Amino acid sequence: MNLFALLEQTASRHGDRGAVYHGERQVHTWSELRERVLRLAGSLRALEPGARIAVASENSPAIIELMFAVWAAERVFVPLNYKLHAREMAQILDDSGAALVLASPKIAGQLTGVTSTPIEVIGSEDYQSRCAAEPSAVPRTTDPGSLAWLFYTSGTTGRSKGAMLSHRNLMAMTVSHLADFDAPDESSSLIHGAPMSHGSGLYVPPYVSRGARQVVPASGAFDPDEFLDLCGRHPGCSAFLAPTMVARLVQTGRSCPAGLRTIVYGGGPMYVDSLKKAMAAFGPVFVQLYGQGEAPMTITGLRRHDHVDASDAVLGSVGYARSGVEVAVVRGDGSVAGVDEIGEIVCRGDVVMSGYWRNPAATEATLTDGWLRTGDMGSFDAQGYLTLRDRSKDVVISGGSNIYPREVEEVLLEHPGVVEAGVVGAPDEEWGEVVVAFVVGDVSAAELDAHLLERIARFKRPKRYLFVEELPKNSYGKVLKRDLRERLQ
Ligand code: AMP
Repeated sequence: MNLFALLEQTASRHGDRGAVYHGERQVHTWSELRERVLRLAGSLRALEPGARIAVASENSPAIIELMFAVWAAERVFVPLNYKLHAREMAQILDDSGAALVLASPKIAGQLTGVTSTPIEVIGSEDYQSRCAAEPSAVPRTTDPGSLAWLFYTSGTTGRSKGAMLSHRNLMAMTVSHLADFDAPDESSSLIHGAPMSHGSGLYVPPYVSRGARQVVPASGAFDPDEFLDLCGRHPGCSAFLAPTMVARLVQTGRSCPAGLRTIVYGGGPMYVDSLKKAMAAFGPVFVQLYGQGEAPMTITGLRRHDHVDASDAVLGSVGYARSGVEVAVVRGDGSVAGVDEIGEIVCRGDVVMSGYWRNPAATEATLTDGWLRTGDMGSFDAQGYLTLRDRSKDVVISGGSNIYPREVEEVLLEHPGVVEAGVVGAPDEEWGEVVVAFVVGDVSAAELDAHLLERIARFKRPKRYLFVEELPKNSYGKVLKRDLRERLQ
């Protein structure tokens, strides 16, 4: 089984219908997309079998054709978050051993001289000639367990880890989405508001399988007014949005456009109050997912009707186990926790990754007998609703993006004026959380800002610096993060 089959079937049934849109403009029909994908795949087959092919672009229609072309060529798709710093992208290219990176003109410029991976500009003459290459045969014998997508998450050590997702994993995610959350058809649309390298891109397969339009905003980014306008112009719209994006939609003060049917939110905490405001503004269009790169988009969730007249406890939970996934909360000794008892959330099913790319130690620490240790702490109530309590890792989730404090601390410590640094997340209405740095040393906030700007992605920079005499530590000399967070309250 190869995910290309989803496009193949839709192209057979709905060949002349619009498939990909850039804003309001139709870019390809399903037949045209199929043809282009197979030609691109024909040219990508020149790379060795199993080659990792990276794609680094702002949201763009090209990401859709490249995703299916890489699969049709039986190679591995490695999308890069366009918001990363070039140095961070280069690390991922290096770790994945990518044979090629196909990049937007802007990102190609940033990567030049920073990576040794060959760069090709999407839309360049070379790219156009790939689109005119001899088409690949339709893949018929792909092993469903073979690698389809290397999904890079941030590591606690600051280095990204590549979650290995197979065709089977993504098919399980697809089926679960269609069973639990949404029933798109050829009169529906998927609007790519969130980055296509992550959540929004992962939703391409379920919507392609039903012939739903793929709509990429012309800005290539998330603008709430542009998003709502598009929902008014395309039929039956669904989208995956980070909670902070939902809050920005509410801030527009606009009401629900006729075409908006489903907003899937998740990837970070959504506060009950924000969710209620969103439901008051847009009606019962919301679906919540709890997942992670290692079990893409699929651990637990709340369906649309679960939100209607729901208690705060239900709205504040992450819902119940998704179709095809077993979810449990376990104690430190591995035994199953009781009702309302907090432990680590683990899950098992066809959606769970096979491990981290070239990282057996991290794989062993995360997967046991097929069970994925999520690193999230939570508890089940008597009805099977799961509530996340705390994250065992100290990850800060700001605007739907994960930021690992250690990574920011390490870069802060590179500055000669910094003696010690402790980074934590502070609750924030707009972003969910914002990064706050406690710093010991002789340096100004402006100097630190300039220092970080040269080294890491903008979105990881602290929004606030607090200069202190010393950091609170335990007897082992470890900084007490909980203590720092308490100081913020
Ligand atoms: P990522 O692998 O980048 O998708 O991040 C996954 C992490 O985001 C999870 O392990 C959770 O800590 C957090 N997360 C995902 N979905 C939710 C949700 N619905 N509510 C709260 N936190 C979430």
